[in-house]
Amino acid sequence: MMSSTIFSVFPITSPPFFSVMMQQFSPNDVCHEMLRRSFLLVLCLGMISLQAQSTSGEKILLNGNIYTLNPQRPVAEAVAIRGDRIVAVGDLSSVRRNVGKHASMIDLHGKYLLPGLVDSHNHAIKGGVRLLTADADDELLSFDELANFAHEAVQTGKGVRGGGLYITGIHSAQWTNVIILDSLFNNAPYTKKPVLLLGTDGHTAWSNAALLRLAGITNEFVHSLPNDQRTYYGQRDESQLNGLLSEQAIQKARRALPPSPVTPYQGALSGVRHLNSLGITAWLDPAAGHIDDGLQNEALTAYAQLANDELLTAHVATTVVADANGSTTPQFKMLNELQRKYNGKHVDVLGLKIFADGVLEYPTQTAALSLPYSNSGSFGSLMVDPGHLNAFVSAADRDGILIHIHAIGDRAVSASLDAIGAARNQNKNSNLPHSITHLQLVAPGDYNRFAELNVLPCMQLLWATADRYTIELVKPYIDAALFMGQYPAKSLLKAGATLCGASDWPVSSANPFAAISIAESRKGGMGVLNARETVSRIEMIKAYTINAAKLLLMDKKIGSIEPGKQADFVLVDRDVLAVDENLIKHTQIIWTMFGGKIVFNAKDE
Ligand SMILES: [Zn+2]
Repeated sequence: MMSSTIFSVFPITSPPFFSVMMQQFSPNDVCHEMLRRSFLLVLCLGMISLQAQSTSGEKILLNGNIYTLNPQRPVAEAVAIRGDRIVAVGDLSSVRRNVGKHASMIDLHGKYLLPGLVDSHNHAIKGGVRLLTADADDELLSFDELANFAHEAVQTGKGVRGGGLYITGIHSAQWTNVIILDSLFNNAPYTKKPVLLLGTDGHTAWSNAALLRLAGITNEFVHSLPNDQRTYYGQRDESQLNGLLSEQAIQKARRALPPSPVTPYQGALSGVRHLNSLGITAWLDPAAGHIDDGLQNEALTAYAQLANDELLTAHVATTVVADANGSTTPQFKMLNELQRKYNGKHVDVLGLKIFADGVLEYPTQTAALSLPYSNSGSFGSLMVDPGHLNAFVSAADRDGILIHIHAIGDRAVSASLDAIGAARNQNKNSNLPHSITHLQLVAPGDYNRFAELNVLPCMQLLWATADRYTIELVKPYIDAALFMGQYPAKSLLKAGATLCGASDWPVSSANPFAAISIAESRKGGMGVLNARETVSRIEMIKAYTINAAKLLLMDKKIGSIEPGKQADFVLVDRDVLAVDENLIKHTQIIWTMFGGKIVFNAKDE
C-alpha cells in the first residue's frame, strides 16, 4: 500500500488538552481551584454531549488520528471548527491559536477521523422507502423463505399496495427459477391477488397472472409491440407469458398498483438517517425524478422540504433522468426551471442522467456488448442512438449541464465516451467532469480516454467479486476475455482516471467499507474475480472522499479536511488505512458530523 509511509499511524500521547487549557489560568489566581472545578465540569459536559456548543460555536477536535485527504498535510493532530466551517488543521498548539479560549473540546479518544464520506451514485429516497417497506435486501431466498417473507409482508402491511403485494430487492438469481415463483404466487392465496416482485437491480421484475391481467399485459398485447419492446416481456412459449418483465415493461405492471403508502419525504428522511449512520454526508442522487415529471418533481420536493425543515443533514447533488433520443430544447429548459426552483441549501440539481444500456445478467441481458451473448447471439441494446447521444451531450456540455451516463456493457461505454469526446471537440474549453457509472465492461482501448476526456468513472466495486451474479448469471453467457475484464478499477487508475466510489444503494449495501473491502480483495462467496484489478486502500478512501466530491462539483467545499471546507467528518473505530483486509469491512462508525453538528452517534442507537 502506497500509504504505508505517508499514512503510518502517528502516535498521539494521552489527552494533552487539559494541561494546555489550564495554562490559560494564572497559578496565582485565588479562584484557581474554583475555576479548575468549573472548567472540569464544563469539560465533562462537553464530552458527554458532543453537540454541546461553545457560545462562539468553536470546537477543537483532538486526541485522535486525523486523516485529512489533503496531500499537502495528510495527517494532523487537531482540527478547529467555527460553526459549520473548518478554520484550522495541524498541530494542536497552532490550531488553538485560531479559536478563542472558550472553544469546546471534542475528544476523539484515539480513534480515526476522516472527511465525511461521499457516495457518487446513491438513490437515497428509494433506499429510505425500502427500509420502511417489504424489501428482500438482495438475499437469494429458498421457496419456503420467499413464502414466509411474502406472508409477513402482507401481515405487517409493509408489502401491501391496495389489494396487491409489492416486494422489492429480489436477487437476480431468483429469476432463473420461474417455476418456483409460479407455483408460489399463481396459486392460493394469490390467485386473485396481484403480486409484483422487483429485482434489486431496478431493471428486472416478475408479475403473477393476476397482475398481468390487471395491467392489460396479455399475449396479444405483447405480440402487438415492435420487436425491440417485445423482448421486455418474458415468454414461456409463443402463446404464453412467464411473468418476467424488464425495463419499460416493469412500469406498465407497476402502474396497475397504487403508489407506495410511504411518501418520498418519509423515504428521504429514512435514507438520510441511514446514510449518516454509515458516515456518508454527501451523495449524487442520479435519478431524482424524470425530466418528464415536470416542475412537480417528487424527489426534489422531498429533499427541498427536508432541507427546509433542517433535517437534510447531507449535501445532495442530483441529476434528473432525461431521454437522449428526445429533443434537447424542452428538456434543457425544464432542467433550468428545476434548478431555479430547487437549488438551495444542501440541494443542487447538476444536470441529467442518461441510460446508454441496461444490465448484463441473464436473463435480461440488455447491456450493450462488442461481442454477442453466447445464448442468444444478441449484442444487447444500446438504448440511445449514438448520433443522438453525441448531439445531446455536446449541447448539454455547451450549456453547462453535467451529464451522468449509465453504461454497463463495453459497447455502451465506448458510445458514452464517444459522445463526451464529441462534446470536448465541439466546445473546446469545457472541463465539466461528466461521469459514466457502473462500467462493468470497458474495452481496454478505452481506459486512457477517461483521463484524456476528463470523464470520471463512478464505480460500485462491491459488485467486483466472484458471486452468483458474476459467476452464474454472467460468466456462461459472455466472451471469456470480456468476462475477465469486468470492473477494471486498477486498469482505469493506471491509465490516470480519477476513480469515484459509489454504492447504487438500494441496489446493494450503501456501506462504503464493504465496497472498499471487495475492491481490495475482489473476494466473494465463489472465489476471486480477476485479482489484477484490486485497488489499494488509500485509492479507495480517496474514491469515497475527495474524488467523489469532484463528481458532485463540490471538491472546493468538501471531500478533505482543510481550512475553509465544511466541517463534515466521520469518526471510525479502526485505522482504515492500515487494518487487515479482513477487518476493514467491519469498520464501525462512532459518530458522523455534518456542518459542525453530530448527526449520528452510535451511542444513541
Ligand atoms: Zn443507480
